[in-house]
Amino acid sequence: MLAYFSTRNKEIKASPSEAILRGLAPDGGLFVPSDLKELSLDWEKTIAKDYRGMAEEIFAKFFPDITDDIPEVVAKSYEGKFDTEDITPLKKLKDGYILELFHGPTCAFKDVALSALPNLMRAAAAKEGLDDEILILTATSGDTGSAAMRGFSGVNGTTISVFYPDEGISEIQRLQMTTQEAKNVSACAIRGNFDAAQRGVKEIFRSMSKPAQGVALSSANSINIGRLVPQIVYYFAAYKQLVESGDIERGERISFTVPTGNFGDIMAGWFAKEMGLPIGRLVCASNRNDVLEEFINTGHYDINRNFYSTTSPSMDILISSNLERLLFYTCSDANTASYMKSLEECGEYDVTAAQLENIKSIFAGASSSDEEGNHAIRALMENEGYLIDPHTAIGCASYAKFQQSDRAKDDGCKLVNVVLATASPYKFPVAVMKALGISTSANDLDNLEKLERVARTAAPPQLKGVFEKEVVSSDVIDPAQMKEYVRKKVNDIG
Ligand SMILES: *Cc1c(COP(=O)(O)O)cnc(C)c1O
Repeated sequence: MLAYFSTRNKEIKASPSEAILRGLAPDGGLFVPSDLKELSLDWEKTIAKDYRGMAEEIFAKFFPDITDDIPEVVAKSYEGKFDTEDITPLKKLKDGYILELFHGPTCAFKDVALSALPNLMRAAAAKEGLDDEILILTATSGDTGSAAMRGFSGVNGTTISVFYPDEGISEIQRLQMTTQEAKNVSACAIRGNFDAAQRGVKEIFRSMSKPAQGVALSSANSINIGRLVPQIVYYFAAYKQLVESGDIERGERISFTVPTGNFGDIMAGWFAKEMGLPIGRLVCASNRNDVLEEFINTGHYDINRNFYSTTSPSMDILISSNLERLLFYTCSDANTASYMKSLEECGEYDVTAAQLENIKSIFAGASSSDEEGNHAIRALMENEGYLIDPHTAIGCASYAKFQQSDRAKDDGCKLVNVVLATASPYKFPVAVMKALGISTSANDLDNLEKLERVARTAAPPQLKGVFEKEVVSSDVIDPAQMKEYVRKKVNDIG
């Protein structure tokens, strides 16, 4: 049966259920499936199924020890939670395609995975005979927090704490977290950026692996394999829609452009390709925090640089955790361990030329500024009456840059490209309105309503709803206080 290893040491093993429950390997590595061959599938058969059918098949490949539970997990995860039967509908534009991943409860792509993760965790806990309360700690750059809180709201046996950067997120994002009233969920602001929050959470995992009798720690970040796998499904869903509309030939290779932060979403695309889906290229789009573009172009990963707060805050990340999974598959566990050590100690590492070539055969990196993203928002609105959010805009602008590169020419024929739309534009009304040259007010609800009139579309009702709710989480702490905060939570549970 498929087992999981730590990216830093293949001797550290876990069953699929253990990997979901633990989130992070005990040595600080991420869990990865041991044998990629066992994951391969007949993509033509897979795309003949509907979204749920595809999800069932893909989940079963990665989590073979809970196959009996998977139909129920999938049904619970998607029934009635998304505003479209397709879950992730594909939008055709004059020049390319957009995969809309924001039709879930909090209007960002993270809903696709975080609707499923609690159900996967419950099945995994039952499999392992675990009756501990699972305390989920999650660092968020904005969107994971609300999606995770929503996903875990009222789920028996779980408590979730999310940590978000006090500055840099949009007002709506903040309200989506601070107004959630379920007793088992809470949000806490950190004086610092996302990297500080993520570092704090990882440090707690390392130092508190068993925090108390009857309490187990886990994570809802994309370091958890249970978070990553549900994201693989929509790559197949995109391909299915393109084949069925006759826009591509069966078997034709296509490319995806992914607005990237922690490298989770694009890593799911890599797994889709490894499973057999005809993907020709994955374009990793970054904002001004362009660590990944430099890495993919040169093999040099370097966080010794300025950190910029941009209008695409969910991508304001210097340490992209999931890249570690790609390193494992392209550079071995021993090398991954030494690169991660170097990253921790010196803030940089270099892969070898051969390793880089391997990465470049699949990935390309491109980055865009806020201004370039704004231009993409304006152009799509003016030319097609279609509104995109600032993260998706970085994807569109970066893909356009990639198309001009030598590497795109090397791809031979021009591949049909799908840009992943990672959030609803109504989550970021101020940034979108500024891009469109519309004046904004200090009241975000007014902004939302004005944007609805300009774009002639309706904002998702769940976003307008947050303005009527009471703020119930108002904690703000320093990164150094996170451990103490978590200890208190543990005591409350115990
Ligand atoms: C989280 C997020 C991203 C980045 O996704 P990763 O999986 O972290 O690379 C991009 N856009 C939006 C809107 C997000 O919420």
